[in-house]
Amino acid sequence: MKYQSSRGEYSSISAAEAIKMGISPDGGLFVPDYIPVLDADLLSAMAGMDYQERASLVMGYYLEGFSQADIKRCLQGAYNNLNFDHPQIAPVVELRKSVYIQELWHGPTCAFKDMALQILPYLMKTSMQKTGETDGIVILVATSGDTGKAALEGFSDVEGTQIIVFFPEDGVSEIQKQQMITQEGANVHVAAVYGNFDDAQNGVKNIFTSREYAEILMGKGLKMSSANSINWGRLLPQIVYYISAYVDLISRGSIQNGGKINIVVPTGNFGNILAAYYAGRMGVPINKLICASNANNVLTDFIRTGIYDRNRAFEKTISPSMDILISSNLERLLYEMSGHDASRVSGWMAELKDCGKYQVEEDIQMQIQQSFWSACCSDPDTLDTIKTVWRDHNYLLDTHTAVAVQVYEQYVKETNDNRAAIIASTASPFKFGQSVAEAILPAELRAGKKEFELLSLLEEMTGITMPAGISGLNKKPVLHHTVCGVNEMKDAVSKFLGI
Ligand SMILES: *Cc1c(COP(=O)(O)O)cnc(C)c1O
Repeated sequence: MKYQSSRGEYSSISAAEAIKMGISPDGGLFVPDYIPVLDADLLSAMAGMDYQERASLVMGYYLEGFSQADIKRCLQGAYNNLNFDHPQIAPVVELRKSVYIQELWHGPTCAFKDMALQILPYLMKTSMQKTGETDGIVILVATSGDTGKAALEGFSDVEGTQIIVFFPEDGVSEIQKQQMITQEGANVHVAAVYGNFDDAQNGVKNIFTSREYAEILMGKGLKMSSANSINWGRLLPQIVYYISAYVDLISRGSIQNGGKINIVVPTGNFGNILAAYYAGRMGVPINKLICASNANNVLTDFIRTGIYDRNRAFEKTISPSMDILISSNLERLLYEMSGHDASRVSGWMAELKDCGKYQVEEDIQMQIQQSFWSACCSDPDTLDTIKTVWRDHNYLLDTHTAVAVQVYEQYVKETNDNRAAIIASTASPFKFGQSVAEAILPAELRAGKKEFELLSLLEEMTGITMPAGISGLNKKPVLHHTVCGVNEMKDAVSKFLGI
């Protein structure tokens, strides 16, 4: 299998090169040239496998040039019981009849980003070896909060790499910020940006696509890459867990092999839900992919109308990892839905860049609506959902997963479609403890308490133990102090790299 750019200038790129480069130099994203299909027998057989075996099978198709032993080494390094605090890695729990939650946050940073970012450094190292890379790799990351920490954790002290993370100064939770600015490692750099996530992501994309800057780095023996979900190496490991969830439901007898399910994903950059789409193309029988947005509902509008319009106010919500108006991975979906038509994709992306808006034609819109359904959820409804789910099911949701649950309720109400559904749970409730505490604890108890005191209170009142990745964070020393403007991001990179 080879990879091609969604903007058409590159084709026949190896998996190792696609992962090493991260983003295509023409500004496009790398996409596999075909999608392998697992038949029902294979899905049955996977039911008896553990997570590493399932991942090895799925990822093997996409990593031509990697040996079985290479893949195994990557998987063992990532999905083990040191890094993950659950033996099943991505367990599926029943919320109520036919409604399942897949917990994707048992990794070290307590968000689903670990599912990909624990393995990406291994894939990156292997890719560097396969391509005979002698330059150092500089990983640039823009984060809405969770990717940053997960990438720092994954790449910390990985030989041959430097990692630089930009986060919106005022757009991440207290815990997320604390996790990033206390990160240890000789090769890690962190900077806050005066701006929102889109500003940070644009800044990083501009540095990436500057051929001039790439040449300056080249002169110093450095190359840039990405750990954002624009990197195929981020998406691939995410396909695995959707297939894993489906075969888990088969093995516990909750569905018949071949039975269609709905999948609900709280969405920001469209990476996670795109991985679910690929899982569907690979043979998981999916009825609808339900795209859940918060008040930044640009995707809801797009899926309903075919018009993508980012010209709107950027809302700061209590689900900050979804506060995004430019969902990068939508480009990959458009490439698939247009039948790999790079010139059409380039046209839409140029319009997005120039006018902040584009409209897809009816053929594309119909296909999108065939696969996707979307709605959005406000902050008050998010809090209310956390409260009712805790009261009725004794299950504690984080703010992002609550958006998904609430949007799913809207879907069922509108369609009466009660078939089995898997809801992607993207973060531990303790990662967004302040909002979760607000949802379920009375104001008198919370009054005057700081973030970490609230977390202890949450622990005490719910009987749920705080994940190891969060407890003790407040005692760690702050190691990163840089703050920069959107236009100073390139200078910050140079300074970090000492060039
Ligand atoms: C990143 C993130 C999301 C959004 O995922 P995308 O792949 O960007 O759509 C949702 N919830 C949490 C907790 C996240 O960290």
